Amino acid sequence: MFDDMIFRLVFAVLAILLYMNHHVLHRRPPSKTKAVQASRLETWLIWFLFIWTGTLVLYVTGIGLSYYQLPLPLGARWIGAGLMLLCVPMSQWIYYTLGVHFSKKLELRSDHQLVKEGPYRYVRHPMYTTLFVCALATCLVTASALTLASAVVVAALMLARIKKEEAMLISRFGDSYLAYMRGTGALLPRLRMT
Ligand code: SAH
Repeated sequence: MFDDMIFRLVFAVLAILLYMNHHVLHRRPPSKTKAVQASRLETWLIWFLFIWTGTLVLYVTGIGLSYYQLPLPLGARWIGAGLMLLCVPMSQWIYYTLGVHFSKKLELRSDHQLVKEGPYRYVRHPMYTTLFVCALATCLVTASALTLASAVVVAALMLARIKKEEAMLISRFGDSYLAYMRGTGALLPRLRMT
């Protein structure tokens, strides 16, 4: 197996960039009263996001790498690095468009507005699309079976979250959200045959 040092370095730099993008560059103003939807799903999601991050830390440290590394071609791993980089402008566009309505938890502000601009014109969950791209990218760069296993669970939990989030938004916005659903795709733009 070739020396993995370069990918561990590339990955560490990209991970720091994504972290800063999320926690430093995106600052929300203080929020108004919100209705938060706490559930067991959210708890599992937090745990598995934590485990996924743990597998990434393990990869960067190189501990036991030979036991869980999959034989991925170099090209696939560089594609992963490119995809990780792509997640930075994608998420910035989404943060900028969703503004104060962005939240890590499922919640509705007292003055919540339905956003249909920017990426939301075509896709209802562009941030989750970005998360899926990021999960795939981390699997490709690290070629870690542990990252792959945890990312699959995170993806399954995110799909379940979409259902809950949409039910919450329908309960608030009713017919206008249902009409918005008919004109958009959940994770990818809807193909129009006209
Ligand atoms: N699912 C979206 C947003 C993720 S942030 C995405 O993937 O891009 C999660 C919060 O966004 C939820 O608490 C929900 O209240 C809010 N939200 C989701 N779609 C929205 C929309 N079209 N307009 C306003 N808020 C939205």
